[in-house]
Amino acid sequence: MGGNRIMAGRLRDVATELLLAFGTSEAAATQIATSLVDAELRGHASHGVVRLSTTYQPMVNAGAIDPEATPTVERRSASLTSVDGNRAFGQLTGREAIDAGLESARESGVAVVGIQNGAHLGRIGEWAERAADDGVIAFAFVNTGGSMATVAAPGSADRVFATNPIAVGIPTFDELPFSIVLDVATSQVAHGKVTKRAVDGRRLPEGWSVTETGDPVRDPGTFEAGTGALLPLGGQTAGHKGFGLAVCAELFGGIVGRGTVYGQDGPEWVNNAGTLVLVDPLRFSSQEEIEHVVASVHDRVKSATYPSAVSTGSTTKGDRALLPGEPEYRTLVRREEEGIPITDRTAIALSELADSLGIELELA
Ligand code: NAD
Repeated sequence: MGGNRIMAGRLRDVATELLLAFGTSEAAATQIATSLVDAELRGHASHGVVRLSTTYQPMVNAGAIDPEATPTVERRSASLTSVDGNRAFGQLTGREAIDAGLESARESGVAVVGIQNGAHLGRIGEWAERAADDGVIAFAFVNTGGSMATVAAPGSADRVFATNPIAVGIPTFDELPFSIVLDVATSQVAHGKVTKRAVDGRRLPEGWSVTETGDPVRDPGTFEAGTGALLPLGGQTAGHKGFGLAVCAELFGGIVGRGTVYGQDGPEWVNNAGTLVLVDPLRFSSQEEIEHVVASVHDRVKSATYPSAVSTGSTTKGDRALLPGEPEYRTLVRREEEGIPITDRTAIALSELADSLGIELELA
């Protein structure tokens, strides 16, 4: 696989240059690049800079992302807001949604934000982190619209839904150096992880996907060409649970977000819609009480034993349970110091993108 480490600031400049070449404004390019590099810093390369070539260039070319568009925010009442992404880069739409929601949650104690025409909203956990780091609880349910289904229903190998992500953020105030952030697809893995493996030429682990014969797809290129489907979260043991969450996310996206749902005619590309709910926890508990419950949960998880014979699973970060958000925090601390690993093939994909946009690219 090879590859180099690149410092975050340099990678942000590279991503900004590429985004400017798509036709975004300077301010937008900086914000989108920051979100992509934040994903890299936290260990989610599937939602990092590789997306510029695998997802955003074809979406811009197809008119599914308008690089010059900006989202519009409609405040419906003290606690209800609708954000229309207008097919701008989704990272901009997510930012508007969280900014509007945080303002309204501070005033009203609770805020609900519906999001439509989000194009590809990227790493949903970014919103949960923003809210929780700011002392506010967040829940987000996102659907995908479009005709980019990749996930099977239990007992099927047909692509019924997309990977409909869910994120939850809970502030920890002064108790922990990171917020609790659960940020997951409702499939065994995000589809972006398959795409990234296709770029890097790595096989898919067992347990990610299924075909009509019940066997998994091991070659990511074959999956990308349309064979098989990702299993819902819970796999062949308890896929009904992930499937149920995916249905809820699908409907939240359709009802509160007013996006398209599967079964309706959707656009060809991803067009995320979603519901973001924010709650000011200090309206229920004092900071001291919250820190106390966080400490109890933290100690409980840390005091379990983790024998080497018991596996955490092939996509879990680390060999034991951490708190959600902790692996991302640890990776962030390390990568801010050591730089971000970029595989040779990802570097080539970015160079090819730069060539096609007519700009010079120095990655190192
Ligand atoms: P994943 O399987 O990598 O799981 C990540 C979550 O698991 C995090 O909350 C992390 O803190 C937690 N975690 C990891 N190791 C842990 C451990 N040892 N102990 C405790 N918790 C642990 O994530 P995924 O499902 O592959 O999703 C990856 C990304 O894809 C997410 O950022 C998601 O928002 C994004 N996504 C976006 C879309 C979209 O349409 N925009 C769709 C699907 C997924």
